[in-house]
This record gives sequence, C-alpha cells and structure tokens, in this order.
Amino acid sequence: MTKTLAGKRAVITGSNSGIGLGVAEALAAAGAEVVLNSFTDRPEDHALAKDLGERHGVVARYIAADMSEGDECRALIEKAGGCDILVNNAGIQFVAPVDEFPVEKWDAILAINLTSAFHTTAAALQGMKAKGWGRIVNVASAHGLTASPYKSAYVAAKHGIVGLSKTVALEVAGQGITCNAICPGYVLTPLVEAQIPDQMKAHKMDRETVIREVMLLRQPSRQFATVEQVGGTAVYLCSPAADQVTGTTISIDGGWTAL
Ligand code: NAD
Repeated sequence: MTKTLAGKRAVITGSNSGIGLGVAEALAAAGAEVVLNSFTDRPEDHALAKDLGERHGVVARYIAADMSEGDECRALIEKAGGCDILVNNAGIQFVAPVDEFPVEKWDAILAINLTSAFHTTAAALQGMKAKGWGRIVNVASAHGLTASPYKSAYVAAKHGIVGLSKTVALEVAGQGITCNAICPGYVLTPLVEAQIPDQMKAHKMDRETVIREVMLLRQPSRQFATVEQVGGTAVYLCSPAADQVTGTTISIDGGWTAL
C-alpha cells in the first residue's frame, strides 16, 4: 500500500481490540503514526502498539486514558502531542427496557460513546486549525440512524454523535478539516465471534444458520461487515478524494438502513 498518510498522527480511542484496532491497522498500513488507547494500562496494551508499529514501519504508541472522564479524554490528545486524524471509536453497550435501564449504565454509555468525542474533538481542533488540515472520524453505528428496542442509551448516544459530527463539520468547513461518522451494521469483531457458540447452543442451530437467521436478521446482505472494511473507509475519509466529504454519514451495514 502507498504510504499516503505518512507524516500524519492518528489517535484512535478504544483501540486495543475490535474495530478501533482494525482502524489503527489500516491507518498504520497507510503510513500514519498511530496512538492506541483504552482505559487499561497493561504490558500487553503497549506490546500491541509496539507490534503494530514494527509490522507497518511506523511510530505506534499506546496511551491509557478512560474515555468516561472528560479530563482524561483531553489529556489523551495532549499526551499524544496533538493529532491530525482523530478517530472516536470507544464504545460500550447495555440492553434493557427504558423503564428498567440502570442510571449508571445510561450515564456510562453517554459518557463513553458520546461525550468523550466532544472532549477529544475540542482538544484536537486547535492543532488541526493551526495546520489547516484535520480529519475527525466518528465510529457511530446503524443505531446512529435507526433504533432498536432496549438500546435507549446506545441509540441516543449514536444519534448524538451523528449530530455532533454534522455540527463540527459546519464549524470548521473550509479550513481543511472534515468530520464524518461511519455507521457500521453488525461487524465481526472478536467480541461478536465469541457470541456465536452460545447463540448456536441457545438456538440449536449450526454456525451459518444462527448467523443468518438470528444475528443478521436485520442486515439484508446477511453478511457481517468486517473491521478491515471500517478501516478502509477511515483511510478513504483521510484521503484527498474525501476532501469535500464532511458532515455526513457512511453506512457499512449490508443494507440495514435502506429498509
Ligand atoms: P470492542 O469492545 O472490541 O471495542 C471497544 C473498545 O473501546 C475497546 O478497545 C475497549 O477497551 C474500549 N473502551 C471501552 N470503554 C472504554 C473507556 N472507558 N475508555 C477507553 N476505552 C474504552 O467493540 P467494537 O465492536 O470494536 O466497538 C467499537 C466501536 O464500534 C464502538 O463505538 C461500537 O459502538 C461501534 N460499533 C460496533 C459494531 C459491532 O457490530 N461490533 C457495530 C456498530 C458500531
């Protein structure tokens, strides 16, 4: 791959697994320096960054910061030394009827999935404005565009981050900075992969049937999206082809939101 993002530093929140790690891989493969993040500070977190950097021949660091805390979100950007590319990806989920939804779960989901992006964006923008170049990529969800029952906090946060993306895009339009939201449907992450055996047991179905008939019921392609596809979309949003793509959403959902 050509190193189109050489000289750019990317901070990806919530990137020691799943989609965040896939996006970090794709940006590093395109030549970007990457900063991985999660709330843990284990030797394996730092080893992950070291390995990724060595494989792609780029500088890669891991910086621990809890995205549920506003000051830690801002400190992440500061410790990184600012960034040219900000990917707000950290996210958690909890499922319960709205009248039984635990308040602490609501608060945590809103803080991690939405408010963290407000803080990191605010912290990153000054440097982007000074350079006249910046890319903010928010990992929203099909649930940023449509709802499912029992996911009130997640759906509210993901709709919120779509709104935040549009607002930021308008505020920085014409300054070389874009802000967009990627809206994946069901993505085959290690976390999702780990659920398949239980689903097979619960529904007494083989792997292919449970994926098709249970897990991907709302995804018309009946195929998972992949972390590589989300990573590739992030690289596209950072490319000159996307210079005028801002304040919008890109769905990677096998047709879910076309229904
Ligand atoms: P994941 O659990 O593998 O990744 C979530 C990441 O966020 C992890 O690195 C985790 O350590 C980190 N994280 C959690 N709490 C944090 C905190 N307080 N501070 C810092 N980091 C924290 O799950 P994933 O599926 O890769 O999800 C990544 C993003 O993609 C989320 O925003 C999720 O809502 C979104 N998404 C996922 C899917 C899917 O099907 N997997 C679909 C649409 C959107």
